[in-house]
Amino acid sequence: MTTTPLPTTRVLWLEDRPAEIRDPLPEAVEAVVVGAGLAGLSLALHLRRLGVEVCVLEREHPAAGASGRNAGHLLAGTSEYYNRAVDLLGREKAREIWAFTVANQQDFSAHLLSLPVETGYQRCGYLACATTEHERRELEQTAQLLREDGFESEFWSAEQLLKRTGRSPFLGARYSPDDGQVQPARVVWALADELRAAGGLLACRTEVLAVESDPAGWRLELRTPEGARRLRATVVIHCTNAWTFQLLPAFTDLISPVRGQMLATERLHKVIPMAMAANYGYEYWRQAPNGEVVLGGWRWSQREQEIGVLTETLNPEIHAGLTTFLQGHFPKLEGAAIRCAWTGVMGFSRDGLPWVGEVPGRQGQYLAAGFTGHGFGLAWRCTQGLAEEIVQGRLCESLRWFRPRRALG
Ligand SMILES: Cc1cc2nc3c(=O)[nH]c(=O)nc-3n(C[C@H](O)[C@H](O)[C@H](O)COP(=O)(O)OP(=O)(O)OC[C@H]3O[C@@H](n4cnc5c(N)ncnc54)[C@H](O)[C@@H]3O)c2cc1C
Repeated sequence: MTTTPLPTTRVLWLEDRPAEIRDPLPEAVEAVVVGAGLAGLSLALHLRRLGVEVCVLEREHPAAGASGRNAGHLLAGTSEYYNRAVDLLGREKAREIWAFTVANQQDFSAHLLSLPVETGYQRCGYLACATTEHERRELEQTAQLLREDGFESEFWSAEQLLKRTGRSPFLGARYSPDDGQVQPARVVWALADELRAAGGLLACRTEVLAVESDPAGWRLELRTPEGARRLRATVVIHCTNAWTFQLLPAFTDLISPVRGQMLATERLHKVIPMAMAANYGYEYWRQAPNGEVVLGGWRWSQREQEIGVLTETLNPEIHAGLTTFLQGHFPKLEGAAIRCAWTGVMGFSRDGLPWVGEVPGRQGQYLAAGFTGHGFGLAWRCTQGLAEEIVQGRLCESLRWFRPRRALG
């Protein structure tokens, strides 16, 4: 048993959370989006821009789910290192999917920079660091394969790492200059503001309990603070990530809840220059705009306990592991106080790729979920393509690897 004391459970990013919005709901609407995370609000905005009457329903508040509880890395790529993605998917498919994430990153970062509010976006670069000789070789191979396929990627040896970042305990790293970071909850709140300014509706504290068929399309049974009510919609889109199985049981084995845990130190002078990760992405860290060092991971040590859970309680063993990692890898941070810690639940897809498109057997219901710890690298473009599919009624080529029918067809 560990004896590391647990800090206050609080999400750093949610500290200055805006007031909850509860727009009055109509009797019927063209499109309902379930879930006000990154995916739901991006999709609603894309739909609204295409002229659709849209209403977002959220059980809690915008960014209450994984979208407000993550590391805020805005990265190109998938959950696996590229050499592994090539082995798993084949070279051409891996290249196409990587290119999709690069386009997502370009479009989404341009959108964030165009917003009138500060979302903390920085194109700071990203280092995937090697903790073992085996991982070092894989990262070197990954960088090589990416360059061969036309993507920007460098491999830094241990000596180069040391020279460029000061002290480094790692054996080498892959450097990706275009990757960046954001204050994740602020991104979500900015999308919510944008949606409402464009005429979209948002109702917090409104849970969708069931979606039943109706002559006009679909009838949603809701739980609101005032009690039960109904809403009719032509189209319903599930952006419920880890919770998808609750309304779509067919996805129970396809999207699994996986809990991630993070901590944040007190405010410190600049010690971490960019977005960073190690151990195949299992540990990840960065410095927040106000100076807090934010670190997450260690769930590999508690695999059984962290899969399939939706509760947001801290795991003391993981906290102890993260604290040890922090002290062992950043001697400059010795003595830094841990200000808070929190968890968030991700939606891990069975094959590592998101599920975006019409739900098989439920015409007029769609899904954008299962981002497998990489929503910021995927969701903007995925939901843009999905909005076009819904409005134009034809399949969007760039989503072809993500269609739900690949498993349920
Ligand atoms: C610790 C941690 C670190 C991460 N780090 C990164 C990172 O650095 N970079 C990155 O790209 N990704 C990261 N991720 C993953 C990223 O946060 C997700 O991929 C992304 O936020 C998914 O967005 P979403 O909108 O699909 O889901 P969510 O943000 O989880 O939103 C789903 C929403 O649906 C709502 N909901 C569910 N069911 C209902 C219902 N029946 N009625 C009404 N509302 C409902 C929930 O309340 C929730 O708000 C991390 C995640 C965690 C937990």
